[in-house]
Amino acid sequence: MHDGWETIIGLEIHAQLNTESKIFCGCSTRFGDEPNENTCPVCLGLPGALPVLNRRVVELGARAALALGLHINQLSIFARKNYFYPDLPKGYQISQFDQPFSAHGELEIMTAERDEAGHPVEWRPKKIQITRLHLEEDAGKNVHEGLPEVDRYSYIDLNRAGTPLAEIVTEPDFRTSWEAYDYVNHVRRALQWVGASEADMEKGNLRCEANVSVRRIGDDKFGTKSELKNLNSVRFMQRAIEYEVERQISVLESGGTLRQETRLWDDKLMETRPMRSKEEAHDYRYFPEPDLPPLVVSEDFIERIRASMPELPEARRKRFMEQYNLTFSDASQLTSELALADFYENAVAASGNARATANWLRSELLRELEAANLSAVDSPVSAAELGALVGMIDEGKISGKQGKDVLVEMFKTGKGAETIVADQGLVQVSDTGEIDRIIDEVIAANAKQLADYRAGKEALFGFFVGQAMKASKGKANPKIVNERLSAKLKA
Ligand SMILES: [Zn+2]
Repeated sequence: MHDGWETIIGLEIHAQLNTESKIFCGCSTRFGDEPNENTCPVCLGLPGALPVLNRRVVELGARAALALGLHINQLSIFARKNYFYPDLPKGYQISQFDQPFSAHGELEIMTAERDEAGHPVEWRPKKIQITRLHLEEDAGKNVHEGLPEVDRYSYIDLNRAGTPLAEIVTEPDFRTSWEAYDYVNHVRRALQWVGASEADMEKGNLRCEANVSVRRIGDDKFGTKSELKNLNSVRFMQRAIEYEVERQISVLESGGTLRQETRLWDDKLMETRPMRSKEEAHDYRYFPEPDLPPLVVSEDFIERIRASMPELPEARRKRFMEQYNLTFSDASQLTSELALADFYENAVAASGNARATANWLRSELLRELEAANLSAVDSPVSAAELGALVGMIDEGKISGKQGKDVLVEMFKTGKGAETIVADQGLVQVSDTGEIDRIIDEVIAANAKQLADYRAGKEALFGFFVGQAMKASKGKANPKIVNERLSAKLKA
């Protein structure tokens, strides 16, 4: 894309683990409560208060690691990361440093470059080295808006202080912004799939930072990197990386130099700008947290977690392609979330037709769901009912066109397919005797067209199909109409 230049990207993801209480105390992690409502001496950092590790954090951390195919260290150590900032009441964050929960992993993702219109060009696998996944607590929040005299005061809300996070760090393995985009989506789906995190970037329970640099192709030294923050969606992250790559190349090509800095993405101006440097070459003076014992997890514990996990998304996508003969894009969409994959398989069980069910789910039901801003779990049409509808179309009881109207009605009323078909008196006429009778009438009434057709005007076939369908009030099975008409017209 940029002649002669190579882009180098590494990513850090902070995912909030989906617990009800904080990592080292019993305070609620609920979002949106009154400021500082969910606090206690531990998460306020009061002298003498002692942290106790929340077991659920370890379980969800293990689910996250296993969902990404990572190895879990049976021994890991919590460490103090010392720095001063108003949202950090203890003056240090409890994190993990040289002995993290998981290290040296490898993750395979599917990735594709995009064309001008943003459509994936060709999907291919790519392996990403995961440097580490560790457990840590979140800091609180400084509030600078919506309160009295914000020009004079900063406000602090410590509800978020002590919320459990998994931090996932990659090696600088990405070469394009789309690889980074596909990776973050892969991680999000995996964490949501196993219930480790809601992983919603807009709610801030998944945060992402990108380290971006460029170098001349052939150089083996890395260029000066920028750390991009404030990336509130995967799409913004991708754009921020693109912007930053362009900026760095143009600085270097015009003979300038870059400095290592943190830059914030501004999604209104669509640009990155330097953030006031708050920590120059920070020394965090890490040391083992003396108030917490080493974290030891047994082989047994890990195996129990593994056994309780659902079939993972990539495995399920591959199985869908083989078992149901779906394309990569169909199978990917149907495994974009666990509830949707379950919905699909339940619907197939009811319809007996995997291909048709995939089509109906993807093109018809998902459109209705999207328009109503609902996800598969909230669908007013159950999987069994969608399967029943597809089955009725398959058996020729109703036409595909009728099926679309029935589905809309099912969606609106929550009634079953059979009920609506019976209520509306919808039946597809597949009885060949009845269809023959209709066709005979149509032919008798259109002697001129029949003569023209037989004289070689084959385009008139469509006219006869239209007349027959009209005479049946749209109820005739079009496939049978076509078959019978072509037999009779030739006769
Ligand atoms: Zn607390």
